[in-house]
Amino acid sequence: MSCKDTRERVGALDFDVVVVGAGFAGMYMLHRLRGMGFSVRVFERGGGVGGTWYWNRYPGARVDGPSMQYSYSFSPELEQEWRWTEHFAAQPELERYANHVADRFGLRRDIQFDTAVTSATWDDTQQLWSIGTGRGDTVTARWFVAATGCLSATNVPGFPGLDTFKGRWLHTSRWPKEGIDLLGKRIGIVGTGSTGIQAIPELAAEAAHLYVFQRTPAYSLPSDNRPLEPEFEQDWKRRYRELRQAARKTWFGSVAFVAAERSALEVPEDERDRIYEAAWGKYGGVLTAFNDLTVNEAANETASEFVRKKIRQIVKDPGVAEKLSPRDYPIATKRICIDNGYYETFNRPNVTLVDVKADPIQAITPTGLRTANAAYDLDVLVFATGFDAMTGPLFRMNITGRNGVKLQDKWAAGPRTYLGLATEGFPNLFIIAGPGSPSVLSNMMVSIEQHVEWISNLLDHARNTGTDAVEAKRDAEDAWVDHVNAVADDTLYRRANSWYVGANIPGKPRVFMPYVAGVGTYRERCDAVAAAGYDGFRLQS
Ligand code: NAP
Repeated sequence: MSCKDTRERVGALDFDVVVVGAGFAGMYMLHRLRGMGFSVRVFERGGGVGGTWYWNRYPGARVDGPSMQYSYSFSPELEQEWRWTEHFAAQPELERYANHVADRFGLRRDIQFDTAVTSATWDDTQQLWSIGTGRGDTVTARWFVAATGCLSATNVPGFPGLDTFKGRWLHTSRWPKEGIDLLGKRIGIVGTGSTGIQAIPELAAEAAHLYVFQRTPAYSLPSDNRPLEPEFEQDWKRRYRELRQAARKTWFGSVAFVAAERSALEVPEDERDRIYEAAWGKYGGVLTAFNDLTVNEAANETASEFVRKKIRQIVKDPGVAEKLSPRDYPIATKRICIDNGYYETFNRPNVTLVDVKADPIQAITPTGLRTANAAYDLDVLVFATGFDAMTGPLFRMNITGRNGVKLQDKWAAGPRTYLGLATEGFPNLFIIAGPGSPSVLSNMMVSIEQHVEWISNLLDHARNTGTDAVEAKRDAEDAWVDHVNAVADDTLYRRANSWYVGANIPGKPRVFMPYVAGVGTYRERCDAVAAAGYDGFRLQS
């Protein structure tokens, strides 16, 4: 059945598919579905394409995986013509790439910018989604795809007094396009995750004084960034098809991030140290030096202690080095940070580390920030305090499924999905890189492309078989949730209070959200489900 036939049959359908988000997931979803003959409308909250790379303009923002692999593979022409200038591209280059893709494939004509989706309601009688936007539009579509990203709903802690602050405050992912004048300012930054660690060296270079308010120290590894050598680029471009194919079969979705086949405990200590030293500063390095760092506590401790030793070597003040040293969770169980001179920044005379676990933040005042024991005068206050990850972007769309059930209510005790792609009671809703899929524990580009292709193939199948509604079955979903949990239980990931488990948002249920079996295994599972006629889904005409 053609799209036109589908529209005529329903009568009330504005589009075959509404996609939310024009980041890398939404852009490819649009391109792919349009190429298959579906009518598609994309709604994007921002004023341009790029998602994460549209919003995160803070100083130092840069991808933490190799650019040659953090890029689309669906178009051999695109991957040949685009030229990355650095091994790890910075935000402006990534945003340029997103714009290049939008121009090259004529995507903009089907994207409505500056438009947030504020409601999405399933109509069981007509079997369609009714989607409302912040601009007052309502449109209908058979299929509804959330390409909203995992880290797009910002988290600004509710410190008392923030509204009284006379200086300027901002969250890192709402940094203005025109930048802000930081030169000679007294700057405070709350948060030392991946974002804070990238921003801190840059802020310190501009500030009269920088106060770093740290609650939990992070493990950070030096970036391997450098200009991309033409020979390296040419070699990759020659072998792109083979390398892309290989990456899809790995755990992380990157041929540069594959663990060595040996335990950290099977080599003598001095050899282990030599291996870690050689790995320091190389992409994947310390984390891929052995194969049991995320599953064996003793093995993990060897890597954790190696990083602490490095911190002691780099940071001159032993007291500051100790405060920067993570002690209460294993390395890699929170997202590893990749930095450009982070620890070195604490040797600068204009940088002060404030341990707000020992001396908690009590309030923001008109002139700065007050902890239990001290007051800090500030001109600019930066929140690098992260996101309501994975579920936040979905909940803020107010999604209502069959029988008036809200997604928030169904997921009150934590997200429940089948394959991370769909959830029972919400027919025809698909989530790209959602909870229950490898998602944030992978090279996102590989995960995005896999989901986009799987979802679009399913929509094509539905069209060809006259299927109007596709819904995950409860038993398949329950089994998947159990499986996701069982795989996580075999690792150390639950040992950290991370955003992977929702620990950064007060009141959020503690559920480990990503699927940790790896993208290769996951792809096989998804392919097997499709090959078995979309086993675990109810397909209704
Ligand atoms: P994050 O990892 O959640 O870090 C937030 C930081 O803010 C943590 O240090 C946290 O401390 C602190 N914080 C939160 N609430 C606080 C409060 N009330 N008081 C004091 N401190 C508070 O967020 P993020 O750094 O934005 O990174 C999020 C994710 O985005 C990363 O893990 C990564 O996946 C992605 N990212 C990637 C890149 C890249 O590719 N280059 C760059 C940036 C971000 P606690 O640890 O104690 O909660």
